[in-house]
Amino acid sequence: MAYVITDTCIKDFLCVEVCPTDCIHPKAEEPGFDAATQLYVDPEGCIDCGACVPVCTSDSVKAGDELEGNEKHFLESNAAYYIH
Ligand code: SF4
Ligand code: SF4
Repeated sequence: MAYVITDTCIKDFLCVEVCPTDCIHPKAEEPGFDAATQLYVDPEGCIDCGACVPVCTSDSVKAGDELEGNEKHFLESNAAYYIH
């Protein structure tokens, strides 16, 4: 199951820099970046490598299958960002 980013994200791109599949968006130059309150993982691109977890200084990246009950809605919000 894909990893997800939660609402404590501070949009500093540390995870983007290490993600091998470029599945974390929006980047600063992309439409919607200013309006986005956090970054999101595209579940179609995530390969569950976990590289994004240790670099995040705000503990905002979680394994999708390890979410607490009150965090499970982030599965939907991360995936929803990529549905246009
Ligand atoms: S490293 Fe953490 S705080 Fe930084 S953009 Fe990624 S999820 Fe957000
Ligand atoms: S687990 Fe790996 S592939 Fe998935 S978002 Fe994090 S760095 Fe990218």
